[in-house]
Amino acid sequence: MRISIKTLVTSPITKVFVLGTLLSFQSHFTRAHDLHLVEGASSSKPSNAVQRSNSNANDALASATYLANEGIMVESGGVKILFDPFFHNDYGSYQLVPEKILSAIKQNEAPYHDIDIVFISHAHGDHFAAQDMLDYLVTFDSVSLVAPQQAIDEMAKLANFEKAKLSLSARIRAISLAYRDAPISFNIDNVNIDAVRIPHAGWPGRADVSNIVYRVTLPLAEASSTYIHMGDADPNDSHFRPLAEFWQQQKTDLAFPPYWFFLSHEGNYVLDYRINTQRSVGVHVPIKIPQTLLNSGKAYFSTPGEVLKVSPP
Ligand SMILES: [Zn+2]
Ligand SMILES: [Zn+2]
Repeated sequence: MRISIKTLVTSPITKVFVLGTLLSFQSHFTRAHDLHLVEGASSSKPSNAVQRSNSNANDALASATYLANEGIMVESGGVKILFDPFFHNDYGSYQLVPEKILSAIKQNEAPYHDIDIVFISHAHGDHFAAQDMLDYLVTFDSVSLVAPQQAIDEMAKLANFEKAKLSLSARIRAISLAYRDAPISFNIDNVNIDAVRIPHAGWPGRADVSNIVYRVTLPLAEASSTYIHMGDADPNDSHFRPLAEFWQQQKTDLAFPPYWFFLSHEGNYVLDYRINTQRSVGVHVPIKIPQTLLNSGKAYFSTPGEVLKVSPP
């Protein structure tokens, strides 16, 4: 599977950075910013004319668009999902979703339109905003939500939840998993979802936080593409090792680990050997990029609007 990165800019010409054959060298990824530039290879102008699901061209496209922090939009085979899109706390270090992108999501404007499913990793302020999430679900009644029960509980306290409850109940999948529980698997339309609780970074501190790692398989032409979103997972193999069989059951094309996985031997081991992913692109990168991350030479998202394009083989 070939992957390229493009950066969305306001001019009609978009810079396209192509990873090319780098993909075959799994442990030697180049940072997004070092990637080879291909001149004028694509237009950033979103096309409203593209019909989802019944366009052959669309069915063969897959991409991941960075929103900020751990916010990502993944599109594959005409299906679109969001991870951790709504939050307002930067804790003085992290990126917030730029107003332009946030309002495009909320106004259902391209390229952030027609979202099928929103996934929430955990109910921390740099990943989740209950009111925004509830308002989004109320406004767009074809959107489903997959979130830990802790996040749903926060939404349930809001004034407009009760009124919308009936319309929401069929579209909300609350995840109630304890540490060491077996992963659960389910489908929403033609999306396969595996969810498992992996402790929040800082373990055994913050053990009460329900941090959910999602493995999501989306259609892609005749086949599929698979992604892992890890939330703020703790980079310790003792959480991942007992699930060895689970990771082996499904190969993942692209994982989004918090960048701290790249900074320890064990975190890198989890990514390179445990979770069965072809590649990993770091998220949760502070605005001031840590020198240790720069030195690691690993790939990471740091510019909202960046698009990592996953093409068919
Ligand atoms: Zn957190
Ligand atoms: Zn966080």
